Amino acid sequence: MTKQLVGKVALVTGGGSGIGRASVLAFVTRGANVIVGDVDVEGGQETVRMVHESGGEAIFVHVDVAQPVEVEALINQAIATYGRLDYAHNNAGIEGIRTSTADCSEENWDRVLDVNLKGVWLCMKYEIPQMIKQGGGSIVNTSSVLGLVGYSGRAPYGASKHGVIGLTKAAALEYARQGIRINAICPGFIRTPMSEREISEVSQGDLAKGEELVASAEPIGRMGSPEEVAETVVWLCSDAASFVIGHAMSVDGGFVTQ
Ligand code: NAD
Repeated sequence: MTKQLVGKVALVTGGGSGIGRASVLAFVTRGANVIVGDVDVEGGQETVRMVHESGGEAIFVHVDVAQPVEVEALINQAIATYGRLDYAHNNAGIEGIRTSTADCSEENWDRVLDVNLKGVWLCMKYEIPQMIKQGGGSIVNTSSVLGLVGYSGRAPYGASKHGVIGLTKAAALEYARQGIRINAICPGFIRTPMSEREISEVSQGDLAKGEELVASAEPIGRMGSPEEVAETVVWLCSDAASFVIGHAMSVDGGFVTQ
């Protein structure tokens, strides 16, 4: 693996698990220094331990991305530690409580939208000024295939992930001339703790049967790995994607092509 990102600094929210952890490790493998932001202290510290074990450099910062003061502190800490911010993967997300639209509580609605949509906006709000100051940067926001198609029982989640794409496109247009490229990724069914919780719930605890069903819904015939998503994130951030702006890229084994 070439170290094409030596001297670069990347921030990953939700870096304490699943897709975020894989993204942290993919940035580190290419030589970047990484700030791991997560509300889960144990998960975030474990990711940093894995980075150090691989000979890389990272710090953990506790953050709830739904809290403006905490997000501002996260970006400040990143700059105070590494002096710059080149890439951001705004990825922290929650699935919320499975419910039909009419039965959804206001609390469930607010929390899912606060973390998944407002959280992404807050991160960009504090990342973008630093990137402008530096003359550029690249941001990838995690949406979902459920930001492109509907899914029963997950209205707030689907609304938040559709919202991430709209937000990404607006911001991408606003900052394209200032050297900041902003894109979104739309993962399909990826093997992580989040998808395990979802599969276990819909298959009433029969994880193996649930996974078989999910795999058969994917044209490729299997679930994706967090590493496959992370490779796309790093590519979108890198100069190899220098003409890619405002794109919502499916990383989904063909799911939304059906
Ligand atoms: P995960 O649950 O394994 O990891 C999510 C991470 O985000 C956790 O470490 C969690 O502590 C952190 N987090 C949650 N709320 C937070 C908050 N308020 N502030 C800071 N951190 C917070 O899930 P994952 O599957 O790795 O999901 C990562 C992202 O990918 C999410 O945005 C999710 O919606 C999206 N996604 C996942 C899949 C999938 O199949 N796994 C598919 C499409 C999109």
